[in-house]
Amino acid sequence: MFKLTNKVAIVSGAAKGIGKGIARTLLQAGAKVIIADIDDENGQQTARELNADFMHLDVTSQEMCNRVIEQTAGKYGRLDILCSNTGIFPQANLKDMTEADWDLMNNVNLKGMFFLVKPALAVMEKQRSGRVIITSSITGPVTGYPGWSHYGATKAGQLGFMRSAALEYARYGITINAVMPGNILTEGLKAQGEAYLAQMTASIPTHTLGEPEDIGYAACFLASDEAKFITGQTIIVDGGQILPESPDALL
Ligand code: NAP
Repeated sequence: MFKLTNKVAIVSGAAKGIGKGIARTLLQAGAKVIIADIDDENGQQTARELNADFMHLDVTSQEMCNRVIEQTAGKYGRLDILCSNTGIFPQANLKDMTEADWDLMNNVNLKGMFFLVKPALAVMEKQRSGRVIITSSITGPVTGYPGWSHYGATKAGQLGFMRSAALEYARYGITINAVMPGNILTEGLKAQGEAYLAQMTASIPTHTLGEPEDIGYAACFLASDEAKFITGQTIIVDGGQILPESPDALL
């Protein structure tokens, strides 16, 4: 069950964090994985560590996204899985938020996803099969957090994109789904500071933060042949963080 033997997968934002966890689990399931990231040093090191390929990618460039997809399809003859995982989450309260803050968040998280998914779908349409898995978040689609209105808008926007795209591509044997992580211990999350990490750990029913591989296992399932009848859907992986109706509901 859930073997990805010889499937070709690109994971964006995989030099570290959740993307690295997704890459690791896809590799464990037998896929060939291309790590695509703006961070060359960590990307190359992660590729060596996991026995994967590395390609430089800035998702804000349509040209670079096209090149990564075309080179992968050219080298391996196909592209079975795209994990569009790249995302940034610098905080800004609304009263201080500038147009530049808004644009940066949207350019990386939302437009960058569009730039990468579109050429991947063109390859998958020709081969009449494919799996696209988007890393969204609970923040935006389900919850909110002060300082992340622009981030939440991009993460909810990804789901709106996913649902209509899933309808357009279902007839080609392509599924498009999203994983919605809660708080996963990554470099990006650590940058929020110790107080934030403690606050989040306390608000999760499991009383632990998630690990990048927790998202990887969900992505592996959605990437598998067995998930062929699931499209336009989401899987929340958050240790139950969105469940408590009041602080007293947390045991
Ligand atoms: P992370 O630790 O910061 O890793 C993200 C990677 O993406 C970094 O290597 C980063 O490089 C790279 N990157 C940034 N901008 C890029 C660009 N323009 N093009 C290509 N690569 C770029 O982040 P993470 O915590 O793993 O988060 C990954 C995804 O999960 C994001 O979409 C995030 O919104 C989502 N998510 C995370 C959590 C969580 O708790 N961690 C929760 C919900 C959702 P640099 O370091 O050089 O910028």
